[in-house]
Amino acid sequence: GLVATDVSAWFGERKVLDRVGLAMEPGRVTALIGPSGCGKSTFLRILNRMHELIPSASLAGEVALDGEDIYAPGRRITEVRRRIGMVFQKPNPFPTMSIYDNVTSGLKLSGLKTPDKDALVEQCLRRAGLWNEVEKRLRAPGGALSGGQQQRLCIARSLAVSPEVLLMDEPCSALDPTSTRRIEETIGELAAEVTIVIVTHNMQQAHRVSDTCAFFLAEQDTPGRIVESGPTSEIFDNPADPRTADYVNGRF
Ligand code: ATP
Ligand code: MG
Repeated sequence: GLVATDVSAWFGERKVLDRVGLAMEPGRVTALIGPSGCGKSTFLRILNRMHELIPSASLAGEVALDGEDIYAPGRRITEVRRRIGMVFQKPNPFPTMSIYDNVTSGLKLSGLKTPDKDALVEQCLRRAGLWNEVEKRLRAPGGALSGGQQQRLCIARSLAVSPEVLLMDEPCSALDPTSTRRIEETIGELAAEVTIVIVTHNMQQAHRVSDTCAFFLAEQDTPGRIVESGPTSEIFDNPADPRTADYVNGRF
């Protein structure tokens, strides 16, 4: 699994995360919830070393994948990003590239050997729940798909490099309810093999898809922290902190 310990983050002088610790376990879906600006996306980017691409950004703490520090000196970033994939809020397939090539687009960079590309493309599109809709038009451009289909294409593309962890930053917030359901089904199926971390503002979605939930909060210009994390049923039905109860019940 993926374990974050005492993770703090800054943009310039401004501290935006304060000693966040969270264990994201294999076979589980972890939902990150909390108000806008509390640092959920920042935390997600720290988990696959995308945070360091922002020039003003810095961090402290540790992130370990299967016990190995992903920030250890000499650790290859391409390897970290292959093992820990990311899907964004706005689906971002290469719009003029074919559906087929979109799925295989990450392979070269990852350096993985792929004996049978056709089989891999089919397998990834099936796992992403998109195969039936696109099998007759794999050469059509990615940009020709609907928003929900594009998001499932992005999931298929992420899966092609065999990640151990999939980070999803509000993957459904640009989608209609039907597409949202399709993605939630996909998440449920993938969870058996891939450690999934999903940021969502939709409490029903967090309740439906996650096993574990972490509630982030940044109070009055203080940096974001995890107020409480634990089994999703506990967070929703019996939270330890009154702020958690207020948040999950839509009171702020
Ligand atoms: P939302 O729910 O609105 O997506 P979030 O919980 O994902 O919010 P972040 O995007 O992680 O929050 O932002 C946390 C804090 O860091 C915010 O105060 C934000 O203004 C700041 N921040 C985020 N990205 C940058 C950046 N590139 N440069 C400077 N500050 C940033
Ligand atoms: Mg965000």
